[in-house]
Amino acid sequence: MHQHHRALGLAPQSTADSPVLGGGIDIAKALPVQPVTLVRPHAAARAARFFSEKFPGRSMYAVKANPSPDLLRVLWDNGITHYDVASLAEVRLVADTLPEATLCFMHPVKAEEAIAEAYFTHGVRVFSLDSLDELEKIQRATRFAADLTLCVRLRVSSEHSKLSLASKFGVASHEAKALLFATRQAADSLGICFHVGSQAMTPDAYAQAMERVRAAIVEAAVTVDVIDVGGGFPSVYPDMEPPALERYFEVIGRAFESLPISYSAELWAEPGRALCAEYSSLVVRVERRRGNELYINDGAYGALFDAAHIGWRFPVKLLREPESTVRDHPFSFYGPTCDDLDHMAGPFLLPADVKAGDYIEIGMLGAYGAAMRTRFNGFTSDETVVVTDEPMASLYAQVDPITTSNVVKL
Ligand SMILES: *Cc1c(COP(=O)(O)O)cnc(C)c1O
Repeated sequence: MHQHHRALGLAPQSTADSPVLGGGIDIAKALPVQPVTLVRPHAAARAARFFSEKFPGRSMYAVKANPSPDLLRVLWDNGITHYDVASLAEVRLVADTLPEATLCFMHPVKAEEAIAEAYFTHGVRVFSLDSLDELEKIQRATRFAADLTLCVRLRVSSEHSKLSLASKFGVASHEAKALLFATRQAADSLGICFHVGSQAMTPDAYAQAMERVRAAIVEAAVTVDVIDVGGGFPSVYPDMEPPALERYFEVIGRAFESLPISYSAELWAEPGRALCAEYSSLVVRVERRRGNELYINDGAYGALFDAAHIGWRFPVKLLREPESTVRDHPFSFYGPTCDDLDHMAGPFLLPADVKAGDYIEIGMLGAYGAAMRTRFNGFTSDETVVVTDEPMASLYAQVDPITTSNVVKL
């Protein structure tokens, strides 16, 4: 992904005669015609330090959540040394961007050529699988390498998560024994991994999954060297305020300690969203108002895929100076393409007098926002500005994420 750090004539700090209207950029001066992504390296750095210091094991970043090379470098600089990649393009991207990083190829269904290039060209030694077919494929592609860490992915419930990952991947309970046994024979190091689904709203999701892990280990009677609890760690959005991440870490740490595994076994996690949600927001312009519907210049085919397709609500803020004093009102958004599906139901609460020409900042788009952008219908934007103000909400700021003055109310 190519990011311009074009100044856009935007002032990073407020001055008396050039008010900062939001995100630390001066919209009144810049009047950007295209959507502008505001990136906050300090917020991603804070999240990375939090995971690398507090998670009771190793945190590897799930690159699909946001593959920006700038973000990868921020995470690396703040203690994230391992990266969960799922495609050959992600393998190459991380290998090029962070040559010293350790890559783990955690997609359970890979192309044989991708496995071979990852192993022989990029030094990848960790692979996941959920079938005997994939095990054989990995063995063939690596010419029966003797230095593999192979992680068997178990199917677990997604009932506590906002986004299910329960159907597509993972070996079912009744087949886990045979697969664990066969993988143990092929692997130097045997791991068990799972994914509880994205935005898991309670640590119980991990506790329940760890019980599945326990049952699988007991039934297969194999020695396990790695327990990988996957992603799913939440961020904070309107009406989605999860418990503190420390609670998740405690529950996972306790469950890990009680598993029947060797005392030298390692605990891994693959956070995506939690490491990058606070990294960016988006400034859009209202091109038309029709009643309670705002036609904005980004949408389902841009950074707002989740807002359109799974009804995700992101925090919003009207960037107008002086600030509107009119009471908030629920709006829905249409994106810029000619497609009816380019619709974000929200509701998004904005002052009732919002009008064409206004700018809106949409927050918490660092995860699965820019990463999903297409060029459909000719609408796209890679304008990016680095800002230093706080994200609209934070799980990491040493402040109450919801009520402080520098963090907008959701
Ligand atoms: C998507 C994904 C992740 C990251 O999930 P988040 O919910 O963003 O934390 C981690 N591991 C695997 C295997 C994934 O597919």
